[in-house]
Order: sequence, then structure tokens, then C-alpha cells
Amino acid sequence: MTPLARHLAERIRATGPMPLSDYMAEALMHPTHGYYATRDPFGAGGDFITAPEITQMFGELVGLCLAQAWLDQGSPAPFTLAELGPGRGTLMADAWRATARVPGFNAAARLHLVEQSPTLRARQRDALAGLGVTWHDDPASLPDAPLFLIANEFFDALPIRQFVRQGAGWAERQLGLSPEGSLIWGLSPAGPVTALDHRLADTAEGGLVELCPALPAIATPLAATIARRGGVAVAIDYGHWRSLGDTLQAVAAHRAADPLAAPGEADLTAHVDFEALARAFAAGGAAVTAMERQGTWLLRLGLAERTERLAARLAGPALANHRAAFTRLTAPGQMGDLFKVIACHPPGTAVPAGLTRPPEHRA
Ligand code: SAH
Repeated sequence: MTPLARHLAERIRATGPMPLSDYMAEALMHPTHGYYATRDPFGAGGDFITAPEITQMFGELVGLCLAQAWLDQGSPAPFTLAELGPGRGTLMADAWRATARVPGFNAAARLHLVEQSPTLRARQRDALAGLGVTWHDDPASLPDAPLFLIANEFFDALPIRQFVRQGAGWAERQLGLSPEGSLIWGLSPAGPVTALDHRLADTAEGGLVELCPALPAIATPLAATIARRGGVAVAIDYGHWRSLGDTLQAVAAHRAADPLAAPGEADLTAHVDFEALARAFAAGGAAVTAMERQGTWLLRLGLAERTERLAARLAGPALANHRAAFTRLTAPGQMGDLFKVIACHPPGTAVPAGLTRPPEHRA
């Protein structure tokens, strides 16, 4: 039993079964035993690898996409350049190097990172040394200023709740204790859940749906700042337009694991429901783009051309790795279509580079 499993068992003994969202929040961010709070999980020797850790080109293109939006909106200065869940700081370091070529952008940028993990904050401090970073626990404290923001694999780490359809109501999946004292799944009594009313139409008895309460709480105020002050928010994650079924996933050492087996020692994520994200952005008064596949978006931003430019300087295994990175990020069945992109921007401003208006706005 992990120390966190013991802590959770005590909590359940004292206050009863807990929703999955409480379990995820503790497993990921408990101050002394949480997965992110205590370690750097990225890279070949870690538990998983993310796009910016695969190739520098990812952060470069994200940076140039934000800079194009900044130019399109009249180069507001100063402005907030922000990232949610920056991991090792690699994406932002690559973006910053690329945007140094856009006159005025880096000089006007004030760098703000939203990160709760002390371990990862330290990595970010090293990666972005000298750039004058301000850290936040929560996006609510970001400045009231034009906001150009990126979030890669952030929303998938937010705690979700799971509900099972029973008649016209929903029973919540909860964590309780077996007679031997280990964590087990259970179900609450069924009742109505207002936030799931729209899912009564596309689910049947026994169907499972997920709800991420923190998602609108985070995305709607960000969109409101962008709608009012200018800017853009680009979110990249794995998921679909509307999630159906159990997407909770645990990964340790690059392998799927049982989500309850070792809380605090495996990464826990769930698919992002992009419809929920689009609704949350729209509720803040921002215009929302269509959801796009990551591969399509990166190719529109010039990933193939950038790949060739860098390839000309490489040979041997470095060249092979570089080409493999291009494939991994763009190929169908790999990150190219498992990952999706969506953005919001002030109504009446240009659609961010590589994205399109949602279908109902197309001529
Ligand atoms: N964007 C990075 C890291 C993705 S992992 C990359 O692409 O490599 C998720 C990141 O979000 C980690 O930095 C983690 O510590 C952070 N994080 C997770 N939940 C968070 C929360 N509720 N508030 C702030 N940061 C969070």
C-alpha cells in the first residue's frame, strides 16, 4: 500500500466514500504524496512523454501561432504570455526562442505560469532562467491584461467525476473500502444531475459519462479575460468532441496501470471533452474555433517545412529520430489524430493560425 493509499483509506473511514474527482486530486496533487507534486514524470526514463519533449518544433510552432494572433490583434503591449501546466518548461523555452524573431513580441511579453507542483516549478525555473517568470497556483490570479495562453496536456490532468445512467437520473461512481481495507469502486444512489441533462438524449441505461467540474471553472474566466482584453487561448489534448464511456487512465513507466493500484505513483488522466471546453469558452463571451486534429493543425502551421529545414543539418540516428518525431506528432493513429486542438479569441478578431471557425459559422 502506498502512503497515499493509507491516507485515502483513513479519509474514507472517517467521512465515507469519495467521488473520483477527490481521489484524482489527491493522487495527482497531494502536497507530500501526490504524483505531480513530488516528481518529474516526463521523458524516456519517466512515465510518459509529451509533444514538446519529443521535438523542439512543437513549442516553436505554438509560439509562432500565439505571435501571429498577437500581430493580428494589433500587437498589444504589455501582454500576458501564459501557460497552464508547463511540465519541464520545454514548450515555453522553445516558443520563446522562436518568437524572438517577431519584432516586439518578447519585449512586450510578461511570462506567467500556472503550476501547482513545486518539483516542476523548479524545473521550469531552470528552463526559463532570466525570463522573469511569475508563478500561479490557479489561473484566477493571472493579470487583467491581454492574454496569450497555451495549455498542452493540462485539461486531461484535471479531476473528473463519473456517472452511470439509471432511469432518468445518475448514480455516481465512488471510491470505498473493501472488508480488507483496500480501495474499491462503488455507486452512489441515483439522482438528477443538472449538468448532465443534455446527456439524457445520447445515453442509454447503464451508460457512463464523465464530468470535469474544474474545466468550466478555469476556462470560462480565461475566455472572459480574452474577450474583454484581447488575446487567445490554445488548448491541445487527447479526447473527442463528446466523451462517452470510461476514459480514466493510469500510466506508469510508459505502461497502462490499474488506476486504484498505487495512488500517487502513476499518472492519472481522462479524455478531454472538447464540447465541454467549447461551451466553457463560449460562456466567457469568446469566439471558439472548430476542434481540429493536432496533425492537421501542425501541418498547416508549417511543421513539414520546419522538419526539412532542421533535417538538412542532421545525419545518422539524430536524423532518424527527427523524422520519427514528425511522424509521431502528425500520423493518424498516433498523436496526429488522438490529440485535438481548440482555441478561443475575442469575437470579431482573426481565427488563430491553422484553425477554422466552427461548422455553423462556415459559409
Ligand atoms: N504541458 C506539459 C506538461 C503536461 S503534464 C507538457 O506538454 O510537457 C500536466 C502539467 O499540469 C504538469 O506540469 C502538472 O504539474 C500540471 N498540473 C496538473 N494539474 C494542475 C492543476 N490543477 N493546477 C496547476 N497545474 C496542474
